[in-house]
Amino acid sequence: MANKRYDDIKQFADLLLSNGSYALFCHIHPDGDSIGSAVGLQLMLKSIGKHADVYCSDSVDEKYSNILSDFNMISAKDIDREYDCYVAIDVSSTDRLGKYENGFLSKENTFCIDHHQTNLGIAKYNYIKDCSANAENVLELFKAKNLPLDKNIATALYLGLCTDTGNFTHSNTNPETMEHAAELLRQGVDCQAVNFYAFSAQSRNRAKLYGQTMSKIEYYLDGKLAVIAVSAEALKNCGCEKSDTSGFIDFIMGINGVKVGACLMESSLNCWKVSLRGKGVNVCNVATEYGGGGHIAAAGCTICGFLYDVIEKLVKSVKEVMD
Ligand code: 5GP
Ligand code: MN
Repeated sequence: MANKRYDDIKQFADLLLSNGSYALFCHIHPDGDSIGSAVGLQLMLKSIGKHADVYCSDSVDEKYSNILSDFNMISAKDIDREYDCYVAIDVSSTDRLGKYENGFLSKENTFCIDHHQTNLGIAKYNYIKDCSANAENVLELFKAKNLPLDKNIATALYLGLCTDTGNFTHSNTNPETMEHAAELLRQGVDCQAVNFYAFSAQSRNRAKLYGQTMSKIEYYLDGKLAVIAVSAEALKNCGCEKSDTSGFIDFIMGINGVKVGACLMESSLNCWKVSLRGKGVNVCNVATEYGGGGHIAAAGCTICGFLYDVIEKLVKSVKEVMD
């Protein structure tokens, strides 16, 4: 299948909107941006009379249904109908579709809206622009077609924007990000509520796991690399879900001297989902070495093996990108 990349958002939007029914896909271990940009697009499509369902291969943290009042995500279920088109959102490589990967690849009319520089175009029609959050691409798509926002749509997109920028604190926060945030807030988004559920609200179980994990931070490369690990056993013992580890990585990036942070979460037996963050260090190069991807300052991959073999590999790779 010949993949086509569009630079003109209006051209891409015309093609996308020429369909009647849509299956939208978030990425595995869905974050606020994948969910927010998918739900924002779903709500907009519905508001103009289209049929749109959102699918995710993994379960979705309940905090997202607290933020998004009009929220209906199909998690890990088989797709039992045909759609006019299939749209991957914030999905930088097809393996990030999880259980929907093969189904997506078998379809003719596929689209991708993404902001990862490592994405070379996973669908037939691709709009990939490197911006702070994929929610901004979705917002630009609406603007290109003069589609009117409402509070619910804006809240979904704002969720994407604030989570992918770490509440506007990461290096990807720029004037355009703030302009987009302002446009969304003008629709009446309750940013205090979004921030609370996205960044602060947590279960007692998560707080316990957080404490346990942070009491065992390990340092390598003269303290420039900090590593935390959450085993499947620790998750189980604390009564936590995999999604409960989201945000753990941010804490270690504030430690004096740390330039790179790695959070390893055992996603299946002896396979570790690695979240990487860098301060002035390109961690995307580390992630791509292991078949992952992402952005220069925030990237991820999955590496299988015994924990300390995986850490040893990471230390070596991080050292190489630092040198
Ligand atoms: P996080 O650490 O928050 O899961 O992900 C950080 C960034 O890296 C996100 O933009 C995410 O989409 C990307 N990312 C995380 N894991 C993977 C992976 O396994 N493969 C690819 N291609 N990208 C990833
Ligand atoms: Mn994103």
